[in-house]
Amino acid sequence: MKLSTKILAGLVLGIIAGALLNAFLPGQVKAIDHYVLSPVGQAFIRIIQFIVVPVVFTSLIIGLTSLQGTGKIGSYTLKLLPLYIITSAVALAIGMVTAYLLKPGTGVSITDVGQGPGKAQKSQSLVDWLVSIVPTNPFEALSTANLLQVIISAILIGVAMNLVKEKAKPFLALVESVYSIVEKILQIILKVAPLGVFALMASVIATQGFGVVNKLLMYILGLILALAIMGVVYYLILLMVGARPNNFFKSFFPSFSLAFGTASSNAALPVAMDNAGNRYGMKREIASFALPFGTALKRDGAAILQGFNALFVAQFFDVHITASLIIAVFVSALLVSFSTAGVPGAGIIMMTTVLTAAGLPLEGIAIVAGVDRLTDGFRTALNVIGNVANAAVIDRWNK
Ligand code: ASP
Repeated sequence: MKLSTKILAGLVLGIIAGALLNAFLPGQVKAIDHYVLSPVGQAFIRIIQFIVVPVVFTSLIIGLTSLQGTGKIGSYTLKLLPLYIITSAVALAIGMVTAYLLKPGTGVSITDVGQGPGKAQKSQSLVDWLVSIVPTNPFEALSTANLLQVIISAILIGVAMNLVKEKAKPFLALVESVYSIVEKILQIILKVAPLGVFALMASVIATQGFGVVNKLLMYILGLILALAIMGVVYYLILLMVGARPNNFFKSFFPSFSLAFGTASSNAALPVAMDNAGNRYGMKREIASFALPFGTALKRDGAAILQGFNALFVAQFFDVHITASLIIAVFVSALLVSFSTAGVPGAGIIMMTTVLTAAGLPLEGIAIVAGVDRLTDGFRTALNVIGNVANAAVIDRWNK
């Protein structure tokens, strides 16, 4: 069986197992999750994160020091940034229009949904975030897995290596050696990916069940619909630029399904980079820069979540939707989507910023917190699809 088939099987079987556990062993679910499913799933997420930083750091340096690396990074960034902003704005608009038309928040009462476990947490302001991406210590950037800081550190180091030439050779040899080792580690880890994904899915479904889904059904379905529409938009974009969308979705399927299963874009990154080189045939220097860069920045799923969620909250609390509310949501959600971390549940933390900007009640967060993990997989999958698709567009333009 191929790896992608095995991962898919893990996903599907995990959902089935979770549903069965929830239905037939309600008394034991907690213990089974606590002692078996959750530990296996968490261990898998942890071990795959183990290689995220070394992969990003070494592949970027190799890309930068390869023949034309340095000059090209600037030109890739100049192409990627506007592309990111445009596609995120489209995603956000889709999320908001879907919520506006479906009205998932009207008719739901607070007694229906109860209060979820979520508390409104404070998220960072934009200026603080911008300052925080500048690294103060390369080792801290690596050890805290701050992807943007790692990228900036690697670029600085790579540029300096190109300038010192000969003297950088031993370090480059070391970096290349580390890269080969890390690539091998990824192959080993991928062998257990189906099991990891199985455990993660089974854990979510077994513990959450579908009860809470009923109450927020329109919220969940509407959100998934908006995410799916954006997936189709990417299909069309790839078709337009001649990047063979069928081949694209097939090649990157392992990384997309892993994103879905783990709800972490960061965890899916090493696999996306592997898929780019070994299955899709993306130019290495593009994959090694654009994919980590996008993993740090580009989140279409988060944009959709924030826009959709803000309108849901407005509908729920009967707040009149005015043009200024729409503008406040649009601008803040767009900015927030770029600073959402690639870890499970990051989106819900960022809701504070958007709701505050739009003057909407923060209690809205607690209402949707209970179903966040169920939708997180879908939006993370779109986050990764969007990131990789933007890189594929640049790749296509360079061919
Ligand atoms: N879990 C998402 C990701 O890793 C972020 C989010 O919560 O929206 O991309």
